[in-house]
Amino acid sequence: MASFSPTSLQLLAQCEAAWAFRYVQRTSVVSQDSGESVTGSAVHAALERAGRARLAGEKGAASLAAYLQAGERTPEALEVLEACAVDLSRVVAVEQNFELTLGAVSARGRCDRVDWHRDRVRVVDYKSGRYVPSREELETDSQTLIYLEAAFDGWPFADAHEVEYHYLRAGVRLVFRRTPARAEQVRVLVSAAAAQVARGRVTGTWPARVTSRCVRCDYRGVCAEYARALAGGLPALVSGEAPTGALALARSRVATLATLAEARRREYDTVLRARLARLPRGQAITSDGLRARLATRGSPSYSDACELVRALASIASRPAEEVAQAVLSVDLRQLDRWVATLAVDVRERAERFLLEIDEGKAGQYVEVREIKGGF
Ligand code: SF4
Repeated sequence: MASFSPTSLQLLAQCEAAWAFRYVQRTSVVSQDSGESVTGSAVHAALERAGRARLAGEKGAASLAAYLQAGERTPEALEVLEACAVDLSRVVAVEQNFELTLGAVSARGRCDRVDWHRDRVRVVDYKSGRYVPSREELETDSQTLIYLEAAFDGWPFADAHEVEYHYLRAGVRLVFRRTPARAEQVRVLVSAAAAQVARGRVTGTWPARVTSRCVRCDYRGVCAEYARALAGGLPALVSGEAPTGALALARSRVATLATLAEARRREYDTVLRARLARLPRGQAITSDGLRARLATRGSPSYSDACELVRALASIASRPAEEVAQAVLSVDLRQLDRWVATLAVDVRERAERFLLEIDEGKAGQYVEVREIKGGF
């Protein structure tokens, strides 16, 4: 019997080639997303301990960050756990394994947490990444449909079965409820996935689907389609008279290429930064008419920071101390609101400042220029 986890179904829907790299060829690669997944693992482990402590009737710690263990206390994990609000008052299970039979296919997985709400059961899935998808995107997602069936399978006596996605960084919770239509949809979805895999195994072909998601794909280093897309360059300009579909397709291809190229630029920067950091301060490397050096940007001067705080305080009519507190603690939502009301020149400076803080690169960056162009 074919068997899928929610992750494997999602990967299959995104790109058959990536699915085959992982589950058929079992290609060994270094994860491309190690930073985010390290944070995710630490945050999930801390929340699991907090949930188990609650189940054991213990009085919870004042902060969820207290449940991090040595080696997990990275600045990012601390930031996520200190900022999020997790209600454990209704927890009945944590890290609950499940295995379902859906027609001729089985689905297995694990729920981060299960809550009991008077007459309803709710599977809670923690998300520690920055991206928050739309309701529409999640509504038909295989993970949503499978969690709803897992809730039904485990707690058939409940009056209603729900799944909640808790986006810890953004403080967003999205809840979906099981309906007969969704129960039918998941069966159709897994049997289509099983047919797709059976076809791939017979033909030995696993079509690659190049999209902007490729920048997070662990297999891009071994994927010929990805390499071809990067080498292929921009598609020809489509005339303004072209049908809307052709314009939209060309725009989508260019957007994908731009995302892939930006990711590749960051990879080069990482390698170059490490190489340049070994040189005496300010020294450049020259080669093939180019000069590269580590330049300093993004450490706003004291006067710039004061000016920003003063301007924000004046626009928002708030005390400067409060604004300074927000700047220092990077309350991005509040700052966004203030920044949106600033004049353009100050706004640009503030946005650059926030971007640099957000990307954690308030230090040095790689600058590459043509020697001829004046360095
Ligand atoms: S890089 Fe893109 S096209 Fe290639 S396997 Fe990964 S997701 Fe598929």
